[in-house]
Parts: sequence; C-alpha cells; structure tokens
Amino acid sequence: MPKFVYDFTEGNKDLKDLLGGKGANLAEMTNLGLPVPPGFTITTEACRHYLGHGSLPEGLQEEVDRHLAALEEAMGKRLGEAGDPLLVSVRSGAKFSMPGMMETVLNIGLNDESVAGLAAQAGDERFAWDSYRRLIQMFGKTVLDIEGELFEDAIEAAKDAKGTKDDGDLDAADFRGLVETFKGIVREHAGRDFPSDPREQMDLAVKAVFDSWNADRAILYRRQERIPVDLGTAVNICSMVFGNLGQDSGTGVAFTRDPASGQQGIYGDYLQNAQGEDVVAGIRNTVPLTDLERIDKASYDQLLDIMERLENHYRDMCDIEFTIERGKLWMLQTRVGKRTAAAAFRIACQLLDQGLIDADEATDRITGDQLAQLMFPRFDTARMDGVTRLTKGMNASPGAAVGKAVFTSERAKELAEQGEDVILVRRETNPDDLAGMVAAQGVLTSRGGKTSHAAVVARGMGKTCVCGAEELEVDVKAGKFTAPDGTVVSEGDVISIDGTSGEVYLGEVPVMDSPVVQYFEGELAADADELVQAVDRIMKHADEAAALKVRANADNPEDAARARRFGAQGIGLCRTEHMFLGDRRQLVEKLILAESDSERQDALDALEPLQRADFTGIFEAMDGLPVTIRLIDPPLHEFLPDLTELSVKIALAGDKATEQDRRLLEAVNRLHEQNPMLGLRGVRLGLVIPGLFSMQVRAIAEAAADRRKAGGDPRPEIMIPLVGAVQELEAVREDAEQVLAEVARETGVDVPALIGTMIELPRAALTAGQIAEAAEFFSFGTNDLTQTTWGFSRDDVEAAFFSRYLEAGIFGVSPFETLDREGVGRLVRIAAEEGRKARPGIKLGICGEHGGDPDSVHFCHEVGLDYVSCSPFRVPVARLEAGRAAI
Ligand code: ADP
Ligand code: MG
Ligand code: MG
Repeated sequence: MPKFVYDFTEGNKDLKDLLGGKGANLAEMTNLGLPVPPGFTITTEACRHYLGHGSLPEGLQEEVDRHLAALEEAMGKRLGEAGDPLLVSVRSGAKFSMPGMMETVLNIGLNDESVAGLAAQAGDERFAWDSYRRLIQMFGKTVLDIEGELFEDAIEAAKDAKGTKDDGDLDAADFRGLVETFKGIVREHAGRDFPSDPREQMDLAVKAVFDSWNADRAILYRRQERIPVDLGTAVNICSMVFGNLGQDSGTGVAFTRDPASGQQGIYGDYLQNAQGEDVVAGIRNTVPLTDLERIDKASYDQLLDIMERLENHYRDMCDIEFTIERGKLWMLQTRVGKRTAAAAFRIACQLLDQGLIDADEATDRITGDQLAQLMFPRFDTARMDGVTRLTKGMNASPGAAVGKAVFTSERAKELAEQGEDVILVRRETNPDDLAGMVAAQGVLTSRGGKTSHAAVVARGMGKTCVCGAEELEVDVKAGKFTAPDGTVVSEGDVISIDGTSGEVYLGEVPVMDSPVVQYFEGELAADADELVQAVDRIMKHADEAAALKVRANADNPEDAARARRFGAQGIGLCRTEHMFLGDRRQLVEKLILAESDSERQDALDALEPLQRADFTGIFEAMDGLPVTIRLIDPPLHEFLPDLTELSVKIALAGDKATEQDRRLLEAVNRLHEQNPMLGLRGVRLGLVIPGLFSMQVRAIAEAAADRRKAGGDPRPEIMIPLVGAVQELEAVREDAEQVLAEVARETGVDVPALIGTMIELPRAALTAGQIAEAAEFFSFGTNDLTQTTWGFSRDDVEAAFFSRYLEAGIFGVSPFETLDREGVGRLVRIAAEEGRKARPGIKLGICGEHGGDPDSVHFCHEVGLDYVSCSPFRVPVARLEAGRAAI
C-alpha cells in the first residue's frame, strides 16, 4: 500500500508531484532546521484516488490517525481538547500554485469547550473568541460553500452596533455574539450545524480541499494556464501559531528580492496583531517590512537571516509567509517567487554574479516568452497628458495599440482601407469578426477570458488584445461604450489599449520601442542599464550553447538587415510571391493571359530583371550567410482581380468592356478553384507554366553573379515548394541546373547554389528517403504540413471553432501555434531520419511559424535539425530557446 501521509520531517522540495509545492517546501524548511510549526501532508495520490473512486483510499484514515497522534505527542496537546487545545490549519497545495482552489481553514479544533481552554492558556478571552469566529467563517465559506458576504455583513452589523469601523474595537463579548450569529448562518444556509467535533472538522476540511480540485474556478484556471487536469492537490495539516495574540504578534509576507524589478533589498508587508489572510485581504493597513526592525528587532534580524539562507539554498528569489507569535518567529510558507520578465533577467544575472548558479542555469531560468514580453512595443507612460484611464481588462495578447474605436467588423475594414488605425470593440467576437480583427490595430472585448474567441484569434495573429473588460458597457448598435466613471466613448474616438497589462485609455498614448528592442537594433549600448546588460549576457551564452542555428523569414533587404541585427544566421525562407504584387501585377496578368510561347516569354523577360534586383539587395544584406529562396508558391488567381468585382465591372461597362477585361474574366474563371490551397500551386505551377521557375532561377543566379563580381559572398539556396513526389522535384531540378550552368557560362562566374525542397505534405514526409536523392536540403513547412496533416484549413478553422476545441481540451494550444509533436512532429521525425539515411549530412530546417515558438524550437533541437527560421522579430526568442534546448 502506498504511503499517503508524510510528516514535514519526511518530505523535501523535490517531492512537489506528491506533496504539492506548499507541502514539499514546508518539509524542506523543516529539514533546514527553520522554525516551521510541526505538521504533516496528505499526498496528491490520496486526492487522485478520492476523486477517481469517490471515497478515501483504504488505510488513509489510519495513517492520518497515526500522524495526528504523533503531532499531538510532539506538541503535548490534543486536537481540540477542552483544557489546552491543539489547533491546526488545513491547507490546500497543488504542484502548481492555483488561485482557483479552496484555500485554507485556520483554527480547526475550536468549539464551545475548547474556546475556553484557548482563552485560559493564552490569557486572552478576546483572542480566543476571535479565533473561533474566524474558524466558523472560513469553514462555512470554503467547506460548506456558504456565501462569504453573509459573514462579512454580520461583522459590519456588529461594528455598526458599536459605532465603529475598526475590527480592533470589537471585544470578546462582540466576538462571542458573532460566533452565535455565524452558527445561525451555517444552520440556515448549509442545512446542518457547524460540526463541534474537532476531528470531524478536520476530515471535512480535508475532503473539501480534495473536492476543490474540481471546482469550476480551478478547472478554468488550469485550462488557461495549461496545467494538466489529473494532478490532484495535496493537503497540509499544520499546527497553528497565532499572530493575533497582541501587539507583540503579527503576520507578514516577504520577497527576497523585488519581484517587479529584481532589485535586491527588503520587500514585504507586515501587520501587527493579525492572523493569516488579513495581510492579503487588505482589511487593515499593513506596514512595510522594514518597519518590523523597529517593532521587533530580534525577529526582524532572524527573518533576514532566514531569507538569506533560503535564497542561498534555493539559489533563487523566494517568497515567504511568516507569523510572529509573542516575539517568536514562525515560517509558514516559501516558494520560488513569481516575477516579471525584467526581474527574471536581472535576478538570473545577479545570482550568476553571486556564484549561486552557473551561466547554463541562468539561461535556463528565463523563457523565450519572457524575452518576447520585453520586446513588445510599449506605451510611453511618461507622456500621458490628456489621456484618461478607463478600465482594466484581461491582458489577452500583448502589445500596445492605438486607434479609433469601431464597433463592427465592416466599419473596421472601411476605416482601415482609408488608412485609419482602428481598435475593434465588441462585447465578444465571433468568426464573422475576423476581417475586422485583421484590419484593426487591436481588439477590445468586454466579455470572455483568455480562451475566448477574441483572445485565441488575436494571439494567433500576434494582434494586441484586451478581453473581458467587464466594467465596460458595450452597445454595438448605438456604436458606443460606457466606462465605469460614466465616460462615453463613441465610434471614432481614439483609444489606447495595452495588451501586456490590460489597461484601456481614452486618448492617444504614444508608442515606443522597448529598450530591449533598441538594444537589438544597436541603438542602445549593451551596458546601457542593468536589464539590457542582463539580456546581452544571457543571449551571448545562449548563442554559445545552441546547436540549432536561427534564420529569419524575410522577403526584402530591410527585413533581412533587421533580422541580421537581431542575430539571424541567414534566411530560411524568402518568399518570392510578394515580388509579383504592385506594379508587377500587370506583367503577371500578361503571363497568365499569354496565348503563345513568345507572348509568355516576353512577360517573363520583363519580370526577370525586376526579380534579379530584389535578390541582389537581399544577398547584400545577408552577405556571407545562406539565403533560401522559395520559388513561387501561391495559386495564380491570387494575382488576378476578384471574380465578382471583375464581373460587375464588365457588366456595368456593357458594350464598352475592353477586350483585355474579357480575357481576364475568362482566365479568372478558368483558374477558379474550389480548394485553392490544394490546387494549382507550388511545384505544380512550375511544371504547368513553362519558363516560370526557370525565370526565377535565372534571376537568382544572375543576382548572385552580380554580387560576386561586386566582391560579395552570396550563398543562394533554391527551394521548391509543395513537392509530394520525387519525380516532381527531379523534373524541376533538371531545368534549374541547366539554367545555373547557362548563367555561369554567360557571366563567367559560377556561384554554387543548393537545390532543395520544402517538406509540407504528408506524402513528402513519408517518401523523404526518395526525395532526398534529389534534394540537398529539406525545409519543413510546418504551416502547410499542419494544415494537410490535420485537414484543417488554417484561415477558416482558427476563427470558426478553435476556441471551442481549446475549451473542450481537444488540444491545449493551437497546432498552428505550437507544433503538434505526436502527429505533425512524427512526420517531421520520419522525414528527418529517412532524409539523413538517404543523404548523410542533408541540411534540415524548419520555416513554418513554429520556428519562433519556444516549445517547437525545443522539438526541432530534439530531432536534430540544423536550423529554425522565423520572423525577424522572433529571432532573439528563437536564439534564446535554441540555447536553452541545448543546456
Ligand atoms: P494560500 O495558499 O492561499 O496562501 P495558506 O495555506 O498559505 O493559503 O494559508 C492562508 C494564510 O493562513 C496564510 O497567510 C498563512 O500564512 C496562514 N496560515 C496557514 N497555516 C497557518 C498556521 N498553521 N498558523 C498560522 N497561520 C497559518
Ligand atoms: Mg490566499
Ligand atoms: Mg500561502
């Protein structure tokens, strides 16, 4: 039979799975010899059994009996005994701290008899009755599910009766009266009496903690934070110490460093003559922890000493709960403290300098998400004149956005097309709002949490979003919303939303680059301040550690140059289709409408020099580094006018319609496809339209030759998209090699170019061994590979039902955001393995959006790819994660 109960002396900090975070750390502190009130922990395994079977596991009660007996022995008191009662707290504590769960019941063991014993022992009648009413209140609220306000109202009434606003003015008799009132509330609202048997109190509280694992709030929280559903919670039984025994007692919280900035110092709050939650509840005003030095110097010194020991022991910033009972300090909780992204960088480097951790560990303490947070543009809060803060919602998707408020998707599109910046404001969004979301700078909703449609879609698009701003009254029909202070914001009024903090402002807050971005841009020196310095150090170490290289997806010289400043080691994906837009559309139209070989060749000949110029600039920006250029991929109709618009135009023109337009319409009709993403695109285009790919290859080769002649070092890699069979690749490859040889002859410069393919169809992955015979590199196009593996049309499904799928837990995160290891990832593994077998040393990379996603970067490292490629802005994040993956 497993062991279900651990004394605090038996556990340690590494047993979080079994004892929960709180229990594991209470045990750790006990074993460090710190003053922790004795107690024991019931394991998460007991909880899982209870939740699974609806009953406590066999043997648990006997084990609890034994541990309770030992605790009573050690304390020299029995639980709830009339003369001198042992009191305990029953505290929940899962592996991850979870605000959605039942919290804690203090003072278990008090009843009508033992309250007198407690009063006599403490020599304080008021304290005893105050403790008793707290027990009934907490027990009623958390174990018996009674509305907490009922109790609070009763306290207010008692204070009113006394003509005071301060709990401190209530005396023993008042609390005694409240105990009676509270018992009445329990009877009326729980349909039972408050249990006077101490052991029954304890057992009911334990079960309530177990049950709270499945409370709605807890389920919601787990979903948002991606915490597994089946961990269960532990329960800690801890003997009580009392901070409410007078002015020489009190309770407080402390951090070993400032969790906001990482600065070293003394941070925390203290409250005299108070118990437990009073500090957090804000019932009375706390004093800064430094005041404790004046109040109780001995305890203060001891506390600082313990904090230092804890930091050295955990080798990290810790947060702490403590209580002082009549001049004696007790430690009630510690854990590695949560911190802001900036503090995370600073603290890691401080600990590194102190020699507490090495550079590997410092790097591993920081996440790519934290770095990304430091890179979002921010509001320049120093320049907020004329701006009003309206409310705060949930920080659903980070960034800072400014624009005119609009209330419908149509208006968002209209105004955006006129060049206006807009913020789409809705009660909640639905799939019909997608176009408006795309057009807007940011999205603001008054309903829904972090898995709501608005939040999911905005994050997917990297768009700033504040959701669930519940204080706002949004009236879409009237085109306005009302803030809690009565301010009415109508369509066209400028608002600013901060997706990193959730703040919403009326007026325009100026937006600026973050200092970390200024540093990456080279506008801020690496030693400009402590934060930038820390980022610089961590990045350098990550680069040294990384096995994966990081490239960027960039289609123009500016993006390529920025990517390089951000540390990219080449371009993993240069799309060429963007080069066919704008003025060049007409040439593409000519190409598509060509009725003879010579007409077609004329169009291609006109396009070629334009393409060549594009490539020259990119090779120059990436001199000496590889540039992977993907030949044209999207279906051709994307370059032609819209079918409906064109039909209308011709119909309106009647007899006057031009011949050109008629032919265009015919072509548009001919090229129309039911499923364009599965239609005539990628390598298929290259095979169907003679000369198209050759023109592109020629442009690449000539650009490379030009650069070489100018003294540069171009490194082109030619990439064929959407290959499903090696035969497709072989055909294209033959032509390409011929063109390369021709250009070498003509220019007298032979620039070697690799020829490879994207792996973005399941068939390509499954026949990668064959394909590798004709490919010098593979680049996993995981956007299409995810679409084709799941059969999801990305543009449709994300807006249509992904929020439902996330809520239902079908996946914890969109497979377009984080690579789906089991499905898509398996195809990647197969292709990597078979590709290497067929062609040892074949270059392998990934160029889907997953290339900038932390978890996916770790996957790529595990599979042993050579590089990941992502948008220029994500390059630092990928570098950091590539380093962390290798540590
Ligand atoms: P949470 O996880 O919500 O912080 P805790 O279990 O830490 O819940 O307890 C809530 C409050 O009660 C904290 O302030 C804690 O320090 C205090 N507390 C818990 N157990 C005891 C105890 N045995 N004696 C005194 N105070 C306690
Ligand atoms: Mg709490
Ligand atoms: Mg706590």
